[in-house]
Amino acid sequence: MANNEDLLKKIIAHAKEYGFVFQSSEIYDGLSAVYDYAQNGSELKKNIRDYWWKAMVQMHENIVGIDSAIFMHPTVWKASGHVDAFNDPMIDNKDSKKRYRADVLVEDHIAKIESKINKEVAKAAKRFGESFDEKQFKETNPRVLANIKKIEDIKNRLYPAMDANDMESIKTLIEDIGIVCPISGSKNWTEVRQFNLMFSTQMGSTAEGASEIFLRPETAQGIFVNYLNVQKTGRMKIPFGIAQTGKAFRNEIVARQFIFRMREFEQMEMQFFVRPGEEMKWYEYWKDQRMKWHQSLGIPAGKFRFHDHDKLAHYANAAADIEFEFPMGFKELEGIHSRTDFDLAAHEKYSGKKLRYHDPELNQSYVPYVVETSIGLDRMFLAILSNAYTEETFEDGNSRVVMKIPPVLAPYKVAIFPLTKKDGLPEKAREIMNDLKHDHMCFYEEKDAIGKRYRRHDAIGTPYCVTIDHQTLEDNTVTIRERDSMNQERIAIESISGVVNERLKNI
Ligand code: ATP
Repeated sequence: MANNEDLLKKIIAHAKEYGFVFQSSEIYDGLSAVYDYAQNGSELKKNIRDYWWKAMVQMHENIVGIDSAIFMHPTVWKASGHVDAFNDPMIDNKDSKKRYRADVLVEDHIAKIESKINKEVAKAAKRFGESFDEKQFKETNPRVLANIKKIEDIKNRLYPAMDANDMESIKTLIEDIGIVCPISGSKNWTEVRQFNLMFSTQMGSTAEGASEIFLRPETAQGIFVNYLNVQKTGRMKIPFGIAQTGKAFRNEIVARQFIFRMREFEQMEMQFFVRPGEEMKWYEYWKDQRMKWHQSLGIPAGKFRFHDHDKLAHYANAAADIEFEFPMGFKELEGIHSRTDFDLAAHEKYSGKKLRYHDPELNQSYVPYVVETSIGLDRMFLAILSNAYTEETFEDGNSRVVMKIPPVLAPYKVAIFPLTKKDGLPEKAREIMNDLKHDHMCFYEEKDAIGKRYRRHDAIGTPYCVTIDHQTLEDNTVTIRERDSMNQERIAIESISGVVNERLKNI
């Protein structure tokens, strides 16, 4: 089995070779951390978005969807705190000229110490065998204790410095713990500076009359500023939700790991408006619902875990991430945040407009509290690709790469192959295609041997291949081959749609 770094490389290469993801502007050597979705990728992405929308909007009578503009009034971002606080601390190494996020450098250093502890524990577990008590070992082993203390000391310096915007202390911390640049190996660092992640541009035709506006760094604010319009025109009663999917932009200091961290990406967000005081109940509800949604796709439960935040953003009173085991380890895929009334109250203040809800049951007006679920569509795409990528070798020495994409998300549901290009088989195959394509994305292919065509569709994750042969002309039956098991069955043409539909229901 390939190691994890290799696996990510293989997925990137596969995504390019089979038309899922291309680097943006590749003929000009690409644009850093920007990617384009190709013919198969855009289908997969659309299917993930639809699957989310269906679960959130179609299946909840009290959730509606909107599609707000990317450009918003600049004061929105003042009110939301993004102008003043959507910053990451950056630092450059003077020798390698590489730029880093200062907090990430420190966190990577902590991770190294953690892995030392884990190695120590693993060694001891081997030595002591069954009688090993990990808790006791960690509480008593001097080397482990010293490393735990080191981590605590670092955290106790990093987080307060981050909260206080104290860049100097972060620099001193980096120097004190002796972090070296992974490229140059030197400790020749610049000062740490705050860097705002919002992209800005000018709106208006003349420079003097122009005003600075931002490309939205999250879709959530488009929901907040429309809260009252939607509540009134939709006659929504609390608790209710507003969902939206769309592009967001962040000028990430270090963007890497393929589509995991990009400068232009897509979010799928839902803001759920609740009575103040009931937010924790809904926070737990949405944590549970969202985890179930992930697992409904048939991905093993062990690939997901919750990470509860100890350090909360200024607007939150509870927050958790759903992490997925990507090839580069467990990383954030989705956030569930209890945002209190922070955003609506701030927009009330800055706009001077009341954003209240009159609760007929309590006969009271209040600013609702909000529980948000926020997932990156591109990260979900990478999670699906990473889980789907499978290399198989058979007893006869042949091998294949098969993308075990959940059928409901697969770019194509059925591939249709005439066995040969003659004897009326293509015409018959076209007839079947023309009928099936009303219900499913179908792919018609007559080039190359059947085995090659199967492999091509394994590689893009098509759950079914249907072959039309001479017998089809006689008795209207076809061979249908299932992607994962490679089982082949002879069935009537009229049954194809039923077989496919059944598979789409049972993941
Ligand atoms: P991270 O800690 O990884 O930077 P975040 O906590 O800043 O993420 P949120 O602001 O909570 O992320 O955004 C919600 C979701 O949007 C994330 O869970 C992630 O899936 C996605 N996301 C955020 N930034 C990016 C990015 N640069 N590229 C792709 N997806 C992103």
